[in-house]
Amino acid sequence: MRSAPDRPKTSPATTTRASDASAMTTVGILGGGQLARMLALAGAPLGLRFLVLDTSADACAAQFAPMVVGDYRDEAALAEFAARIDVATFDFENVPAESAEWLASRVPVFPSPRALAIAQDRLAEKTLFRDLGIGVPPFAVVDSRADLDAALAEVGAPGILKTRRLGYDGKGQFRLRTRDDAEAAWAALGGNSHGLILEAFVPFERELSVVAVRGREGGFRAWPLTENWHDHGILSASLAPASVEPGIAAQALDYARRIGEALDYVGVFALELFLRDGTLLANEMAPRVHNSGHWTIEGSETSQFQNHLRAVLGLPLGDTRTLGHACMLNWIGSMPDAGAVLAEAGGHWHDYGKSAREGRKVGHATLRADSAGELATALEHVGVALARQSQVAPVVDRLR
Ligand code: AMP
Repeated sequence: MRSAPDRPKTSPATTTRASDASAMTTVGILGGGQLARMLALAGAPLGLRFLVLDTSADACAAQFAPMVVGDYRDEAALAEFAARIDVATFDFENVPAESAEWLASRVPVFPSPRALAIAQDRLAEKTLFRDLGIGVPPFAVVDSRADLDAALAEVGAPGILKTRRLGYDGKGQFRLRTRDDAEAAWAALGGNSHGLILEAFVPFERELSVVAVRGREGGFRAWPLTENWHDHGILSASLAPASVEPGIAAQALDYARRIGEALDYVGVFALELFLRDGTLLANEMAPRVHNSGHWTIEGSETSQFQNHLRAVLGLPLGDTRTLGHACMLNWIGSMPDAGAVLAEAGGHWHDYGKSAREGRKVGHATLRADSAGELATALEHVGVALARQSQVAPVVDRLR
């Protein structure tokens, strides 16, 4: 286990006064990916220290924060981590709920292990959404091959069979076009020990997300609704504010507020939604800062990273209004050349310091402009210069 030198531990954070933020408060982050890295960057102006727990010594957040390297279930690693932090949070929602509980008995943990446990389980989160009056696609639990036939009879086809836990970026999913695909779907996912859920396939017109933050005293703010485009299940582009009917945006924010209150949530979370025939259906929530909120770094008065830290430390939440129009483009696999983005007046570059690997999120760019037309023009420049016209085209269509 590699770790940073010891330093005296401050008392556990209760509510941090703004003037205390520089009193060497150490925020522990479970998971050391790009989200932890951007949290550390956002926390620097607040004078915060960070400590990251990750299984890999070359996690990209380690370029900015000391680390404890260890398994999330390793009590010795967790104990060392807990002893050196004032408050804990996550960049990764699949940290075992028991580890979060164990930590919570030693330091404040936000969001709570209960919120984490619900968001880790597609069945629990969809049931919560439904109980809160939030629209969801029809769904049914699948624990056996016979259950799959029963679920198909109930939910219908086409559908998507998903693992209840540990799925991300479209992984752990099988699309069934007809009921005849049941055997193939079961062969692909039937052995999953975490259980399965069958959801009706939603032929959505748009994918949207609300990124919201709730403070320790219950204060709630949400960034304007964001429209998202995916490529092979991985987020490709996000546009904010989404151009939808005001009623749709208000409903999405209301859904996020209900979820935040029901979970007594503290921190940032994202709610992913489908829009179909003027109706919103909730897909899933992420109990952490979210890729569809990266545009907030330059496109909003306060970024999701800064507000997440303010929330977990009990500081006042920052304003979430947008500064014009912003589009985030994800770089998957390898980083393109930065020149074309940096040449744009509102172009911003984020390289996560990762090595190239197929399907890996290695960085992103955000383009910001005062008007939709200017943003479309900037996106066209970048699309041509980087030969990424297909990535920018749906966003440009929406803006024009
Ligand atoms: P998820 O891991 O649930 O976020 O799914 C990844 C992507 O698959 C989503 O962003 C959608 O593009 C698509 N997807 C997931 N569930 C459904 C559904 N019920 N109907 C249609 N598309 C879906």
